Amino acid sequence: MSPLGARPRGAASAPRHACGVFGVYAPGQPVSQLTYLGLFALQHRGQESAGIAVSDGQTITVVKDMGLVTQVFDERTLASLQGHLAVGHTRYSTTGSSSWQNAQPVYRSVGDAGFALGHNGNLTNTAELAAELGMLPGMVGERSRVDSTTDSALVAELIARAWPAEARSDGRDLERSLEAVLPRLQGAFSFVLMDDSHLIGVRDPHGFWPLVLGRLDGGGWVLASETAALDIIGAHHVRDVQPGEMVVIDATGLRREHRYAEGDPRLCLFEFVYFARPDTRLYGQSVHAARRRMGEELARQAPVAADMVMPVPESGVPAAQGYARVSGIPYGDGLVKNRYVGRTFIEPTPQLRGLGVRLKLNPLREAIEGKRLVVVDDSIVRGTTTRQVVAMLREAGAEEVHFRVSSPPYRWPCHYGMDTGRRGELLAADLSVGEIREYLGVDSLAYLELDRLRRATGAQPSAFCTACLTGEYPVPVADADGDRKRVLEEPFLDLRPVDAAG
Ligand code: AMP
Repeated sequence: MSPLGARPRGAASAPRHACGVFGVYAPGQPVSQLTYLGLFALQHRGQESAGIAVSDGQTITVVKDMGLVTQVFDERTLASLQGHLAVGHTRYSTTGSSSWQNAQPVYRSVGDAGFALGHNGNLTNTAELAAELGMLPGMVGERSRVDSTTDSALVAELIARAWPAEARSDGRDLERSLEAVLPRLQGAFSFVLMDDSHLIGVRDPHGFWPLVLGRLDGGGWVLASETAALDIIGAHHVRDVQPGEMVVIDATGLRREHRYAEGDPRLCLFEFVYFARPDTRLYGQSVHAARRRMGEELARQAPVAADMVMPVPESGVPAAQGYARVSGIPYGDGLVKNRYVGRTFIEPTPQLRGLGVRLKLNPLREAIEGKRLVVVDDSIVRGTTTRQVVAMLREAGAEEVHFRVSSPPYRWPCHYGMDTGRRGELLAADLSVGEIREYLGVDSLAYLELDRLRRATGAQPSAFCTACLTGEYPVPVADADGDRKRVLEEPFLDLRPVDAAG
């Protein structure tokens, strides 16, 4: 029996991304079009739904729907979204249902006022907060799932309840309510928020997910998950929003840079490995250059005699280039990727499921036949794709397949906003590298060591969350009985969706 014989395997789909957030304050500029372009640049962070909220100073209008940014918005819709201030969101649910209600930004009205919120992340104390609010009687501690939108709606509810009964004349109610709420939130959150005349960006004290501040040449301020989104709209990167910081932008410019909590930076290390666009900068480092260095380190750590180094496109490309450079083995393409396959193919039947990877990747027989290949990818999570890729390469005549992975074994579920599945779905959760090698059917297998990976980022090695690799969770996560533990088998507590209109 294969080592995986008894393992309950998850659906063949690839793991999912965190969300993308964007915000812009730019009177006199087409803010909804800028937000559209920003979201388009962040499409890789979430393909399930997209939404934009825009304010003209009086009214906030929200348009959101299921689908890609280009499917949700057309010119006519954008032209109707007039204003000077907007926030946007692309979503890939961390878990749970995909439905219009769960698309973001979340809008909430409070008396005569209203605000919109876009969230990248996952709170770890949703159950306590919901129980405090009396929102989910009898549900806390039961087993089901929380999704990011549920916590976003919960945060909106908390803000609404903290809202002063009488509006102040300075119009800073959102900022004040938020300040009252932030210390109560635990877990991962990069928020963009707006009312009719303020744009606010917030990062949790660990800064699990990125959030950057940019400036438009013609005047105006931008918030975005990644610097690549700034480049695309012609904004320049001013700085990162710091872990534990709230920034407030209004008619007077960047009015407030407020540290509401002491920061202990723990950016998701996988942003460097896989999630972020290669043309993004994280901690001041080029992601593309860091990925090349990961490949170089991998070649030093795990050399092998071979005829060609090839990537699993596209995520494995820079690391494969790095491996080839250091090893001196020629770099080549052995798989062609269909550029138009955006999100994972929906696999309704076993036959179609088998086709899943082939729809995305097709081997170049003439390039690989009779060759000893070093195949480089950034990660193996569930192993479904990798196993099929290896089988395809063998069918196409590869003589040897030496698999090299530019990150360590992915062993623990993420509780901070990445849906990579439960522990039982993670290939490396309880298999040794030797067993994984056998399961994948490769001649040799090596994963990049964690210290080498950290070094390759070029950033401060301690400034990362490595929970998925080490099981050390910077923010404790609660198990299904509500006990606080640092390590968990199951990723989420049970909660029903919170009624956002409540
Ligand atoms: P698998 O063999 O099914 O684990 O898939 C491995 C592939 O998934 C690699 O090419 C990775 O680049 C990719 N991958 C890693 N993390 C994620 C993620 N969070 N979402 C989608 N794909 C991912």
